[in-house]
Amino acid sequence: MRLVFLGAPGTGKGTMASVMAKQLQIPHISTGDLFRLHLANKTELGTLAESYMKDGKLVPDDVTVGMVRERLKEDDAQKGFIFDGFPRTIEQGKALDAMLQEMNLSLDAVVDLVVPEEELFRRITTRRVCKDCGQIYNTETLKPKVEGVCDTCGGELIQRADDNAETLRKRLDVYTEQTAPLIDFYEEKKLLLSFDNHNKMGSGVDEILDLVEKHRQA
Ligand code: ADP
Ligand code: ZN
Repeated sequence: MRLVFLGAPGTGKGTMASVMAKQLQIPHISTGDLFRLHLANKTELGTLAESYMKDGKLVPDDVTVGMVRERLKEDDAQKGFIFDGFPRTIEQGKALDAMLQEMNLSLDAVVDLVVPEEELFRRITTRRVCKDCGQIYNTETLKPKVEGVCDTCGGELIQRADDNAETLRKRLDVYTEQTAPLIDFYEEKKLLLSFDNHNKMGSGVDEILDLVEKHRQA
């Protein structure tokens, strides 16, 4: 299975991709997580990425594409993958096409998660993440068993630096200008599946897999 999750920040891409990837036993490749990992490890790439991320801007395409190219070469990605947060520009979409073509592979589907904008603000400002394993929580809808502590690894739950109302507004503008054009891009390639992810945090995985299966057979 080779899937891409599209969708604005806060639509639930990360949660959905993570649950689905575990279920299918394929890697969940989140470019945001990869950048945050670099940042935590204080690599050169991490420092560069941070200068964009803190303002809600996109990391330059060549940097992002280079990182994804390396990730796709790893063994675990050979049996499939779920991309979350990549591609985010038409340029990245074209680069992904080229990479897959080189590997003689193609995407099964691109899933666009749709949530009303006012809901995005609520979700993002109540979102918490595990600082060690990246698992996503929510102070209203997806509470850990012990407040502030990750159920999976015991790590501390923190709020991402860019999960505030001001940066989110910028990320939404960036999404509309640079990422939303990918909806048409993938529609034209007959890969686009749209999924209403309102009030469905974490429970839509099987519904989406059904949609993908129907799409593959069509
Ligand atoms: P969200 O989808 O909630 O905005 P992500 O974790 O996917 O969060 O991304 C956080 C930040 O990481 C983005 O605002 C951007 O700065 C950077 N980033 C992530 N993926 C990409 C990408 N494909 N291209 C450029 N920048 C990216
Ligand atoms: Zn954890």
